[in-house]
Amino acid sequence: MKFKKCSFCNKDINDDVFGFEGENGYICMDCLDIFYSISRFDLDELKEIERKQQTINPLITPKYIYNHLCEKVIGQEHAKKVLSVALYQHYKRINYDKDSKLEKSNILLIGPTGVGKTLLAKTMAEIINLPIAICDATVYTQAGYVGEDVENILLRLLQNADYDLELAQKGIVFIDEFDKLARKSDNPSITRDVSGEGVQNSLLKIIEGNIVNVPPQGGRKHPYQEYIKFDTSNVLFICAGAFDGLNIESKKIVGFEKIDEVEEIDSEKLKKYGIIPEILGRLPIITKLDNLTVEELELILTKPKGAIVNQYQELFALDGVKLEFDSSAIKKIAVKAYEEKLGARSLRKILENTMLNYMFDLPFENKKDLTIKADQI
Ligand code: ADP
Repeated sequence: MKFKKCSFCNKDINDDVFGFEGENGYICMDCLDIFYSISRFDLDELKEIERKQQTINPLITPKYIYNHLCEKVIGQEHAKKVLSVALYQHYKRINYDKDSKLEKSNILLIGPTGVGKTLLAKTMAEIINLPIAICDATVYTQAGYVGEDVENILLRLLQNADYDLELAQKGIVFIDEFDKLARKSDNPSITRDVSGEGVQNSLLKIIEGNIVNVPPQGGRKHPYQEYIKFDTSNVLFICAGAFDGLNIESKKIVGFEKIDEVEEIDSEKLKKYGIIPEILGRLPIITKLDNLTVEELELILTKPKGAIVNQYQELFALDGVKLEFDSSAIKKIAVKAYEEKLGARSLRKILENTMLNYMFDLPFENKKDLTIKADQI
């Protein structure tokens, strides 16, 4: 046993310290003891303890949520504040309000494409460590017609909660393109609107808080199937859409410290747009997201955790190259993206087009530094 060392603690294994030999190393009796005691913990029990510790976190306040949203989301100050309070309320509801006395704070986000609606919802779920299902309203149809049933949204939430039903029932559902469900005609009886108003009616059943039968395999419901009984009363629903053409007026209100410009979102206007009043009644929080300015687009490139520019820098660092962007280059990317009117969505594409040739040549060149200037964009 001379010159043999435990591969875990590096202790010599000899006549006094007993150990075992494996194919690629050794383990001493002390380490074996430790592993044995760890393995006796029930892993599921450990997971449960961890989850409970994380979900009931006394540090969570609207300000805490807001600060975390700011790490990922640039601008959209008003929406971030509204959502911080809404998420705080949801958090209290799922943890302390066992008889559901607090009203559910479902949310409607109105704003153009690429300005951070999905990002806000995803970050909210991360902050309070809950599962989230992100779906697109346009793939669903009213039950009984060709297309997907809305119950599959809940199945997705359950899958994202690793099939933990209790956890999924407190999760977040984000429904994008919600405005595409607007009623097509003022008179619902003339034509059946199975992908618009019909879906709104199906969604109403899950949004208002019910026990919903979810087909365990997804797909369509089948009369002889065993269903999962999913209680949606504590699920937070966030609906989002651009609502093109919806006229939102600005109004000045006197806040505690200053005069705020607040957008008045009139539910009458949303009804006229084609959203059924019953659904609007279930979405008590309505907030608007703004178009991103050039300055905000510049910040999005570099500031948030995992910003796109930082991702490229890390990628280049793996090849030993220090990548920098001139401030004029950052500005040019932001201006180009601003002109494309797709919010922050264009940033990645513009950067990818710029970097493609450098990425291609990089492994063959002997460069240590690379600075991208405005004329290279
Ligand atoms: P949408 O409003 O259409 O849901 P997304 O949230 O999906 O837009 O954003 C599209 C992309 O742009 C994502 O990669 C997201 O990270 C980025 N992005 C959009 N808005 C912001 C923002 N305000 N702050 C930081 N990143 C943003």
